[in-house]
Amino acid sequence: MTAPNTLIELGVTELRDGFRAGDFTAREGAEAFNAAVAGGKALNAFIVETPEHALAAADAADAARAAGDVKPLAGVPLGIKDLFCTKGVQTTAASGILGGFVPPYESTVTAKLFAAGAGMLGKLNMDQFAMGSSNETSAFGNVISPWRRNDGGNAPLAPGGSSGGSSAAVAARIVPGATGTDTGGSIRQPAAFTGIAGIKPTYGRCSRWGIVAFASSLDQAGPMARTVKDCAALLEVMSGFDPKDATSLDLPVPNWERLLSSDLKGKRIGIPKEYRVDNMPEEIEALWQKGIAMVRDAGAEIVDVSLPHTRYALPTYYIIAPAEASSNLARYDGVRYGLRDLPDGANLQEMYAATRAEGFGAEVKRRILIGTYVLSAGFYDAYYTQAQKVRALIVRDFEQAFETCDLLLTPTAPSAAFGLGEKSDDPIAMYLNDVFTVPASLAGLPAMSVPAGLDSKGLPLGLQIIGKAFDEQGVLDAGLAIEERAGFTARPGKWW
Ligand code: GLN
Repeated sequence: MTAPNTLIELGVTELRDGFRAGDFTAREGAEAFNAAVAGGKALNAFIVETPEHALAAADAADAARAAGDVKPLAGVPLGIKDLFCTKGVQTTAASGILGGFVPPYESTVTAKLFAAGAGMLGKLNMDQFAMGSSNETSAFGNVISPWRRNDGGNAPLAPGGSSGGSSAAVAARIVPGATGTDTGGSIRQPAAFTGIAGIKPTYGRCSRWGIVAFASSLDQAGPMARTVKDCAALLEVMSGFDPKDATSLDLPVPNWERLLSSDLKGKRIGIPKEYRVDNMPEEIEALWQKGIAMVRDAGAEIVDVSLPHTRYALPTYYIIAPAEASSNLARYDGVRYGLRDLPDGANLQEMYAATRAEGFGAEVKRRILIGTYVLSAGFYDAYYTQAQKVRALIVRDFEQAFETCDLLLTPTAPSAAFGLGEKSDDPIAMYLNDVFTVPASLAGLPAMSVPAGLDSKGLPLGLQIIGKAFDEQGVLDAGLAIEERAGFTARPGKWW
């Protein structure tokens, strides 16, 4: 038998393979991670813990193995972002307005993971309705990154957002892998902040059915894990056509994991000059140069490309995403889900108003206000229509760049993790964090972050690879080439 503290050192594919080889039982794995989750409460990474779900899946996996049946993720317990509806398990999107909501159905992505044998360790904390970059907008308190600066201070740091529970839990090794969602960067930026890997696939690869909607034309699910290979293995299970999602891609899911190759010979990797933004810290520029050297060493040819409308991406995103959010969040009316605030003698309108005033957090209200404004009759053309036009230009930028290259390489975020509270009073400073991740979201392209180095304070930094639509393989391959060369082995010291 392998000791439990050894089992939590294993990643997704290592657990899967060790279980298959009979090195340990799925129950031993689930018990080890359940204990790690219970011991990790100081991180506040979970909203709900579900040890019994992980154990039930493990027992089923052990029984099936005894009968000669081994499913693709048998023996692998996972953390699930609280944006995924899970049948019979509270799902809140980290918002008070969904307090106590227990879905009677399972999201397609979690259904696929569970059908593949994975278990659930719990529902992971996140920014409320996935709106944020630091996890500070959660109604359940912020997540604390397991990382600390090496300057002797103990300043608690943001794990990134909105998938900050996912990133913190994977980085702290209290889960081997997790689901995330990415609307403008919420898989990639938290992955970069915590030294793990995460991929947002092409829009439509993972069904959005049963995922609490934020901005429907941008939302995508994806995996967050310690390695590129683990991400590939999880993404294979999470992806696939779903007739219940009208924007789901009706394409076969490739065997990304089996086909992984870090040989980039014949690949042209574009370096978009507009990503060299003002005030970019030297360390980020240096990391980018290191990344260029790594992919060149793997055989790729480097080409300079231009994405001329990059600087309009953030303002465009912050019109389109709130517009869609204001429409999606209209359903939280106190009648159908979660919270209902019905003051004495209140009529229906007053009940709506009281419920929404109490249930939504400040950032969510800000987005509803902005979204309602840009969709209003007087301003629709000036903002929303204009933003859609600029979105088309951003899509065209990428199409033109991909005429001369196969993939793009950029930093994931303009800085390492910031301290909790450092940006929470300044929404614009917070929004600027998404400067490198938002363009690929607007264009629906696959993009991934891989850990590539540390800053001078000992904090992780990530590099982003953006691919053509449907070319997750190219993205994962370049991610692997960087992973192999960066040799990122740093991990947070255990203080929790
Ligand atoms: N930080 C961005 C926002 O607040 C992106 C969030 C996300 O990708 N879910 O909208």
